[in-house]
Amino acid sequence: MTLRVGIIGAGPSGMAQLRAFESARKLGAEIPEIMCFEKQPDWGGQWNYTWRTGLDEFGEPVHSSMYRHLWSNGPKECLEFADYTFDEHFGQPISSFPPRAVLFDYIQARVAKSDLRRYVRFNTAARWVDYNEQMQEFTLTVEDLATQTTETHVFDKIVVATGHFSTPNVPAFEGIETFPGPVRHAHDFRGAENLAGQDLLLIGSSYSAEDIGMQAHKMGAKSITFSYRTAPMGFGWPESVEERPLVSRFDGRTAHFADGTSKDFDAVILCTGYKHKYPFLPDTLSLKSRNVLYPGNLYKGVVWQGNTSLFYLGAQDQYYTFNMFDVQAWFARDVMLGRTALPSFEAREADVRDWLQRFAALSTHDDEADFQTAYLKDLMSHTDYPAFDLDAVAVLFKQWMKDKEEDILGYRDRIHRSVMTGTMAVNHHTRWLNAMDDSLERYLHGPSEDVDTGTLAMLTEGERQVSGR
Ligand SMILES: Cc1cc2nc3c(=O)[nH]c(=O)nc-3n(C[C@H](O)[C@H](O)[C@H](O)COP(=O)(O)OP(=O)(O)OC[C@H]3O[C@@H](n4cnc5c(N)ncnc54)[C@H](O)[C@@H]3O)c2cc1C
Repeated sequence: MTLRVGIIGAGPSGMAQLRAFESARKLGAEIPEIMCFEKQPDWGGQWNYTWRTGLDEFGEPVHSSMYRHLWSNGPKECLEFADYTFDEHFGQPISSFPPRAVLFDYIQARVAKSDLRRYVRFNTAARWVDYNEQMQEFTLTVEDLATQTTETHVFDKIVVATGHFSTPNVPAFEGIETFPGPVRHAHDFRGAENLAGQDLLLIGSSYSAEDIGMQAHKMGAKSITFSYRTAPMGFGWPESVEERPLVSRFDGRTAHFADGTSKDFDAVILCTGYKHKYPFLPDTLSLKSRNVLYPGNLYKGVVWQGNTSLFYLGAQDQYYTFNMFDVQAWFARDVMLGRTALPSFEAREADVRDWLQRFAALSTHDDEADFQTAYLKDLMSHTDYPAFDLDAVAVLFKQWMKDKEEDILGYRDRIHRSVMTGTMAVNHHTRWLNAMDDSLERYLHGPSEDVDTGTLAMLTEGERQVSGR
């Protein structure tokens, strides 16, 4: 009987799984019956921007946490697919830190080209998974959100590719309920335009805080205060930006901090992270983890220890993204197809333990990048994913972190060389700080003669200088 594979989620990880099977098919392998279920109307996961917050058009929790003017926060050279390069897609060198729409275009073109959309049931949410020990198969109940009808499908293997930056972690702070301005989580942040001239408090000290803070600065916030729990980020911030320890309480619009200081604010954004949440899985199959580089119970970061017919993609914290999801998907595919034999439960436990010990010993961000590089090297050695120089990518990650230390507002203007093709990125026509239009068109073609006067009026001084207008 043909193997039946169900994939839940068609973000970059689910798309990687589709591509992995397609790649095997092209090489003559018999591939399984595949169904992929995606609750949004389109694929791309986080990269599929929506203006909505809270609930979507079907009353489902909105998935994407991205905001409109989001530009890649890491060099694109670190996430490039080995089997579909930026050169192949764009036909011209581009800069190293493209906006969201450009990366969305890149990831979806790769799978659209192979007509993989035919496997995906859009507007369809996974509701419940049951495993039948005796039959060794899963029953997956899904809901067609448009018709509000449920169906069940039976699979031999299930791939969970639903991401873990979507369910906000929302701690409480004394007095926050009477803060007079807007209070929201980073998940609901869609743009900083309305923060111009405001005093903004961002609680948190990780990527979201840093990125939203710099976005608010770019859009003209009067001041930005980061409040950290354990340690400050310590970048060379612009003058209007500062870091303070954790908020101890709010009193009206005044926030009091653990060091005894206080300040008045107009708006608060909680950049307090996300929870792993798999409401469609029973707890025996559900990963429980914080956002870490090596969650437990996953052999090679992918195969569920308690049931090796269940696979998770992209479940770890991410230095590497798209190409890591690929390698994971290639590995999962080969395990499913029986090309890669799994060792015994004990041997798998020992492997997971070994990685967890290595993970526990990390102390710097450079260590973390090296750790994920080592993880990928190990995983890649078990697959036929096109080999690429992972050590060179690790060097890029470290350079990127150094660039951020040197210039938090300017690191996105730096350029890097592709590890896949050797192509050097080009300088973007507009500095990130001055770029107010994040469309694919504008990114690729720059300020052109056909820019209408309305658009021209929106250009910043910096953009006008670049465009010569
Ligand atoms: C604000 C933000 C900024 C980021 N910036 C970058 C960046 O600059 N560069 C970078 O490389 N990475 C970035 N990332 C990381 C990002 O998570 C990955 O790039 C990537 O999107 C992860 O892919 P994924 O497929 O694992 O998960 P997701 O992209 O989250 O996709 C999961 C998919 O599963 C679907 N789904 C969820 N539940 C169900 C269900 N029950 N039934 C059916 N479908 C379901 C969702 O609708 C979604 O389409 C960022 C993440 C966030 C949140």
